[in-house]
Amino acid sequence: MFYSSALSTSTALCASIQSMIILVREMEFKQLSEGRILLRFFHVLDSRRALEECPWSFEKNILILNGLGPEDNPRTVDLNWCDFHVHIHDLALPRMNLGVATHIGNKLGIFWDMEMDEAGQAWGAILHIHATINVNHPLKRALKIRTTIRDEKLVHFTYERLSNFCYICGRLGPISKYCELRFDKGFTDLGDDTPYGPWLQAPMPVKGRP
Ligand SMILES: [Zn+2]
Repeated sequence: MFYSSALSTSTALCASIQSMIILVREMEFKQLSEGRILLRFFHVLDSRRALEECPWSFEKNILILNGLGPEDNPRTVDLNWCDFHVHIHDLALPRMNLGVATHIGNKLGIFWDMEMDEAGQAWGAILHIHATINVNHPLKRALKIRTTIRDEKLVHFTYERLSNFCYICGRLGPISKYCELRFDKGFTDLGDDTPYGPWLQAPMPVKGRP
């Protein structure tokens, strides 16, 4: 069983989930409260796929799924974290290894794994990692990593399957118009030159994930 948040119409949401995930077996749902719904999948492979292919979205807003443990309360289970596939740019090829990926992933949130060969090395221009991120925090655009005792290098991030996010503060949710930062003293409206933009969206892998 799983829970989700940020929904408006539970029936439409569940129909959307069924078409997005392409379920093989049935699924049923129960609305628990506003923004929280209980889903029950009738086959573990359907539920596993739903969790593995996060993040999902509904009407362009993030949809957070969380597995339900035997002691979990459906009304209070944590919906603040979501799994993302993150692309790391501007990293030298020799540094595309598990140690560096773990360090960066844990700066983003909680590192899970990376795409790599049997020797633990990634190949290509971009390092792909899988990490759990707190959805209440601004999305990280870049991070300085130490390359030598004296030198640091800036690496940049893009995210697969991003839903709506604010181009001013970088938080997932409604876009910019009423961003809290606009109400701050000293806020300067930069027009279209926002700190965040659609460039934070990473393309999906051509062949999909294994
Ligand atoms: Zn904002």
